[in-house]
Amino acid sequence: QRFRTDLKAAIRSIPDYPKPGIIFRDITTLLGDPRAFRRSVDELVHPFAGGRVDKVAGIEARGFIIGGAVAHQLSAGFVPIRKKGKLPHETVRIAYSLEYGVDEMEIHSDAFGQDASVILVDDLIATGGTAIAATQLLLQMGAKIVAACFIIDLPDLGGAQKLRDLGVEVRSLVSFE
Ligand code: 5GP
Repeated sequence: QRFRTDLKAAIRSIPDYPKPGIIFRDITTLLGDPRAFRRSVDELVHPFAGGRVDKVAGIEARGFIIGGAVAHQLSAGFVPIRKKGKLPHETVRIAYSLEYGVDEMEIHSDAFGQDASVILVDDLIATGGTAIAATQLLLQMGAKIVAACFIIDLPDLGGAQKLRDLGVEVRSLVSFE
């Protein structure tokens, strides 16, 4: 419990970013704090240590930083899920809605073997739009999603619940109401 309090304190809150009325939860302060960063990664991997995880899929861009560390710790491979147009080889792509308009994310089509066990990682889940699109992409590719892991959940926005309703195990370390 003390750890959760310390972790929350390591996250910087920026009012009115990127626009008025939004409080942005800035994890660069957590990443820059050696103890908070290590502890966060340790807590995220803890339930999966000793189990089978073939790959960690991280969502661009902050999911790369956390996902890379998680993959290393679990001796799993790392797979980037990127904004469209960034991956050089053949990809599978999915469109998803943002608050204004749509965007697309993609993954290399040969990123997983058959029935790969995959953990999805991002820094934060809010409405769930991003993580749900990533989940659909992984399922479309035949991956088995072991869990979706986030440092931060914003439960009022309902994304984690939506993901759970899809049958995905969701894990987060702290929440901001
Ligand atoms: P969602 O699609 O769940 O509404 O939004 C989550 C995505 O937006 C994640 O990829 C996350 O990195 C980014 N995001 C949205 N709000 C914040 C925030 O306050 N802090 C951080 N660090 N990322 C955010």
